[in-house]
Amino acid sequence: MKEKAKNFPLLLSEVVDDSSRKLQSGSAYSGNIATPQTATKNAAKNGILHPLDRVASPSKSHINALARSGQNVMILDADRANPLVSEAVRRAMVGRIAKQGVKDMVVLAAMEAIPRHVFMESALASQAYIDASLPIGHHQTISQPYIVARMIEVMRNGGVLGNVLEIGTGCGYQAAVLSRVAKQVFSIERIKPLHALAKMNLRPLRIANIRLHYGDGMLGLAQAAPFDGIILAAAGLEVPQTLLEQLTIGGRLVAPVGARQQVLQLIQRVGQFDWTRETLENCHFVPLRSGVV
Ligand code: SAH
Repeated sequence: MKEKAKNFPLLLSEVVDDSSRKLQSGSAYSGNIATPQTATKNAAKNGILHPLDRVASPSKSHINALARSGQNVMILDADRANPLVSEAVRRAMVGRIAKQGVKDMVVLAAMEAIPRHVFMESALASQAYIDASLPIGHHQTISQPYIVARMIEVMRNGGVLGNVLEIGTGCGYQAAVLSRVAKQVFSIERIKPLHALAKMNLRPLRIANIRLHYGDGMLGLAQAAPFDGIILAAAGLEVPQTLLEQLTIGGRLVAPVGARQQVLQLIQRVGQFDWTRETLENCHFVPLRSGVV
């Protein structure tokens, strides 16, 4: 962990200065928790705050109170000048994730360390810390924070992770969280502009242990295999056998499986030709598709 801290100084000052990501004026907001299902619709509608939702000039104690209350907090550009606020809203988000049952402190710390708003379009960044998936373009989404934490917790299982593979980089958020819990993260994206977006989002964070690949993740990444853990961020009707074969023995793969009705599955490789399978909970992901675009 010490070495990670060195690799990952969390340069929030670099992130907050990015003028291409300026947000609306105002400072903090508390509102209802959006469900993942309504989030995408609401996101487009609510990208810009209603003036009545704005808090003119909130004090630090007001923001801390919001964070403690576990309510949703929207951060706006005044907050960006104050990294403390970002930390407070992330802490509140992590509090909600913990309430939903994620117990792994390493995962919760990773979620607290990664600023989610820098992975989103400026119009939506104000909603970065609600527990919802949100659109990132090309009909794809940034995953809901709870499910990101849950999948990583299940994959990690309290152990030490060497190489891990993520299928479906999207905007790069989950890869950034993974970089805090694994030695080396490989992440594959099949949509070229999203692969480029993830690169752009991750660059200012200067994370040394992420390798992004443009390609079809259904084929895995033979050149970097085997992996202690594999996470699929998109749902297929089944998990490709190629991926199962790229797990180390003892390695764990977590994937959403299904079409309209999806469940989170944990597949563990227990021998050269043996895998066990466990169904965990319902979930909702964008579809896993073959080929590249
Ligand atoms: N990991 C993301 C979530 C990404 S959404 C996060 O950090 O929030 C799922 C992504 O999987 C989409 O960008 C989609 O294009 C991608 N995807 C779907 N099928 C894929 C495949 N076969 N290979 C690689 N990426 C795939």
